[in-house]
Amino acid sequence: MIPFNQLKPLHDLLADEINAALLRVADSGWYILGPEVAAFEREFAAYHGLKHAVGVATGTDAIELALRAGGVGAGDEVITVAHTALATVAAIEATGAAPVLADIDPVTFTLCPDAARAAITARTRAIVVVHLYGGAADMDALLSLAQARDLLLIEDCAQAHGALYQGRKLGTLGSMGAFSFYPTKNMGAYGDGGAVITDDDALAEKLRKLRNYGQSSRYHHQSRGTNSRLDELQAAVLRVKLAHLDELNQRRRDIAAIYEANLTGVHKPSARADSQHVYHLYVIRDAQRDQLMTDLQERGIGTLIHYPVPVHLQESHRDLGLGAGSLPYTERAAREILSLPLYIGLSDDDALRVCEAISQLRGV
Ligand SMILES: *Cc1c(COP(=O)(O)O)cnc(C)c1O
Repeated sequence: MIPFNQLKPLHDLLADEINAALLRVADSGWYILGPEVAAFEREFAAYHGLKHAVGVATGTDAIELALRAGGVGAGDEVITVAHTALATVAAIEATGAAPVLADIDPVTFTLCPDAARAAITARTRAIVVVHLYGGAADMDALLSLAQARDLLLIEDCAQAHGALYQGRKLGTLGSMGAFSFYPTKNMGAYGDGGAVITDDDALAEKLRKLRNYGQSSRYHHQSRGTNSRLDELQAAVLRVKLAHLDELNQRRRDIAAIYEANLTGVHKPSARADSQHVYHLYVIRDAQRDQLMTDLQERGIGTLIHYPVPVHLQESHRDLGLGAGSLPYTERAAREILSLPLYIGLSDDDALRVCEAISQLRGV
């Protein structure tokens, strides 16, 4: 059996450091907004070469609070993709703004800059670009579009911790970078967590208030906020994970290289030449995807689809009024994509067995 994913091997690898961090917090007697969160925020900001990181409760909150800090709210429109975790769109809606869904580039599976430009109206205030699967979107084009139209550009980096675009870390290119630390992400906590990074002092100040009921000093509230805090236990775990992030991402790239060299009979992902992919997911395309998935399952190989139903075709989002056929590349992706097993603890031999199974099934 080769499962699609498992988290235990990574825990075992880092168990000494993680368990020490957990005990350190338990013994400290301080559990919310204390020294671990402050240290993690310093370390995460420094890793990105920026001045600020603000820990929040989830990746969804990171996107929502980044938009709110940037002044986005009711009456505004925010452009993003339908080919993403539903969380991206839910975060936009939580601000009161309306999501406007644009099609993806068929090669990178990320927001198509021309589609984004065509979606701009007088109400557009922001773009949320998703660096899906761990690979960068076309940031040159999107940055110049955002600049020309005076739009906030938020990078959804929930799948792209440590990834590079032209040598620069994702999350540092736009106005703010939003991260999730959900356990399965490249940098996962032992529960929920998220963060926003920025170089802008005023935005960071707003984010710190927003996550803590708008509190400016104890029991004094300057603005309306919410409860969205990263806790000390998660921050202590994340400090350990951050110290190992680059080496863990390198292992993911090594597994992807095995797939790249040995897969036959299916369309392999093409990473941008100017970016360093971190392979949160290794996603192939195949016209007979459903059959391939079933056949692999019968051979004991787990796969998943990220994502089988685009946001505009979800029952929950029918009121957006975008029917089937409105986002052709997004819909084709949903029909053809398949994510192969890729996790810390997957051996080279496991990856080769996946390749062999696919070659046999495809008769090549
Ligand atoms: C995981 C994810 C999110 C949401 O993160 P949570 O921490 O689960 O709220 C947002 N966007 C993308 C692309 C994701 O993969």
